[in-house]
Amino acid sequence: ENRTRYAPSPTGHLHIGGARTALFSYLLAKKHGGQFVVRIEDTDTERNVEGADLVQMNMLKWLGVNWDESVDTDGPYKPYRCMERIDIYNRYIEQLLTEGKAYYSYATTEEIEREKEEQIARGEAPRYSGWDRDLSVDEREKFEAEGRIPSIRFKVPSGKQLVIEDAVRGRVQFESDDIGDFVIRRPDGRPMYNFAVVIDDALMKMSHIIRGEEHLSNTPKQLLIYDALGFDIPQFAHVPLILNAEGKKMSKRDETIIQFIDQYEELGYLPEAIVNFIALLGWSPAGEKNEEEIFSIEELTELFSLERVSKAPAIFDTGKLNWMNGQYIKQASLTRITDLAIPHLEKAGYIQAPYADEKRIWVERLVGLYQEQMEYVAEITELASMFFVEELCYDQEAQTILEQEHIKEVLASFIANIRTTTEFDPETIKGLLKKVQKETGYKGKQLFMPIRVAVTGQSQGPDLRESISLIGADLVVRRLQAIID
Ligand code: GLU
Repeated sequence: ENRTRYAPSPTGHLHIGGARTALFSYLLAKKHGGQFVVRIEDTDTERNVEGADLVQMNMLKWLGVNWDESVDTDGPYKPYRCMERIDIYNRYIEQLLTEGKAYYSYATTEEIEREKEEQIARGEAPRYSGWDRDLSVDEREKFEAEGRIPSIRFKVPSGKQLVIEDAVRGRVQFESDDIGDFVIRRPDGRPMYNFAVVIDDALMKMSHIIRGEEHLSNTPKQLLIYDALGFDIPQFAHVPLILNAEGKKMSKRDETIIQFIDQYEELGYLPEAIVNFIALLGWSPAGEKNEEEIFSIEELTELFSLERVSKAPAIFDTGKLNWMNGQYIKQASLTRITDLAIPHLEKAGYIQAPYADEKRIWVERLVGLYQEQMEYVAEITELASMFFVEELCYDQEAQTILEQEHIKEVLASFIANIRTTTEFDPETIKGLLKKVQKETGYKGKQLFMPIRVAVTGQSQGPDLRESISLIGADLVVRRLQAIID
């Protein structure tokens, strides 16, 4: 049976890398009809951010990465929040203590630091020496009397080879002699990640552990715990790093890339596009599908396999993401894109609720003008600014066009014709432009360019008649008049 999990620490927003881990885990479970679990790893309490778990889960939901079991469900392996599992961890801590596989460690932070410094000074790799492994009852009592509060350390067996058969990286080997006895429970009773994660993954019956490559060095410690408690070892899959366009490891502070999923939502990226894009960060489908780039989450579920996850780092190409999002925007309904565009237009101060029928239709027509060209919906405010601002900025090319001899004649004729009608739909405007052509003798570019530039400020843009119609007679006339004057 396939069971996978995403186990975020609730320390902030859902990051692209986390979203990819969650997606891969989801896809694998769903492909095999298994379950996907979201577990909240909140034992690093100093780093927890209030509400971050829900924020992250909401973004997973937005992406369509839905879980079968989590803190909001009544799953068979609850609770799914680590801080609510302290009793469970303690049972296994007791077992390890009883079996002599773990011990109370009284070393103070200063002592640990000093030991580390001495090792470094000797040119050794620092690791805990385990000097307090076998304290006598007297020695322990003496430390207790000094007020020392012990942590609990795992007794790392010596001379063991620790082999990970990783689904992505292949066989990876570590030596237990390179690992010092590590803390599994803090003095205040909270477990350490490397211990809790094993208990949780084992008890929650995880079949596959998919996570970022940065966790690879944790895995040998976890193997030791699996071994000590006699748990079955799941299939590990460490997915490759994500690099920015410069080929550098993407850090959370990287300013060349938008890092968090909610930022993409805010900018008007579509969740299907984000899912499609992050699925291809380090994975690609086999066979002829490899030539394709657009995949729905259902198709991804069918196609996904760990064998197709690459060892090589993935490059985050924002240009590709924007192209892909543009493809999804084109395919989406105008109603949906309009709903997404409205808050941006409101924020720019361009439009205001309520949207009675006529106004809603107007906004939809406006958004429709740009649906083909938008890469993300927030672009609408810049693209469509000419519909809202009183004063246009004419660019260099526009200025040159406006300096042409015949321009005023064309514009004046257009104004005169506009005044003859109360209708202002694209069909009417077509007729008006015909009349201007007849009256002035100018046609084609000579007719349309001056009008386009005068009315929109740009020499290129969306459909002219629709644009003029949407701008409305009053503002069009004011703009034309301003050029003539
Ligand atoms: N809480 C860990 C993290 O957020 C999870 C690592 C794991 O998947 O084991 O990185």
